[in-house]
Amino acid sequence: MKYYVLFGPPGAGKGTHAVAIADKYHLKHISTGELLRAEIAAGTQLGKQAKALIDAGSLVPDSVVEGMIASAFDTIKGYDGFLLDGFPRTIAQAQALDRILQERGETLEAVISIMIPDEVIYERIARRAQQEGRADDTSKEVIAHRIETYHTQTEPLIGFYRNAGKYHEVAGHPGTIEENRNRVLAMLEAL
Ligand code: ADP
Repeated sequence: MKYYVLFGPPGAGKGTHAVAIADKYHLKHISTGELLRAEIAAGTQLGKQAKALIDAGSLVPDSVVEGMIASAFDTIKGYDGFLLDGFPRTIAQAQALDRILQERGETLEAVISIMIPDEVIYERIARRAQQEGRADDTSKEVIAHRIETYHTQTEPLIGFYRNAGKYHEVAGHPGTIEENRNRVLAMLEAL
């Protein structure tokens, strides 16, 4: 099995490009954000706890998303691997991912990082707010907090994965969605 991480700030286009990558390489796309939103929609206990944190632009506890990932690896069959989107988001989650993979006798193939500047994050999220109506996309303060959370908690993963020799970065801006997608796919082909 091949395990890939799709990395980048909110609005970088991870979800948008994940579908094409997963299709091409026959990977199961797992977005922790989508899994959490499904829990909220289903009104589960976990969803209720996660909602306040997500709406405020904060991260949910590491243990919650780590459990989701481990259970996805255990239960989802019939693919050549997994494409993780939005996980890991903290160093602790990255270490947990290493442990989870090690227990399965697997290793992480590569981290594909899609990079955009902060001002583009605002533009993209504002546009998405109109299309998808996500509560955490509508307030400027919440978006600012997510960007800050990205810089303080998630960005340190760049060094973590660089040291591991697994970090590959591609520009997620400028260009059309298709141009950006082709850049990401070309980079994966070259690995
Ligand atoms: P975006 O990439 O636009 O921020 P996501 O759908 O990936 O959107 O995530 C939405 C929210 O879900 C995050 O702001 C956070 O609250 C929560 N979340 C998603 N993935 C994780 C994670 N790995 N760890 C903690 N919280 C997460």
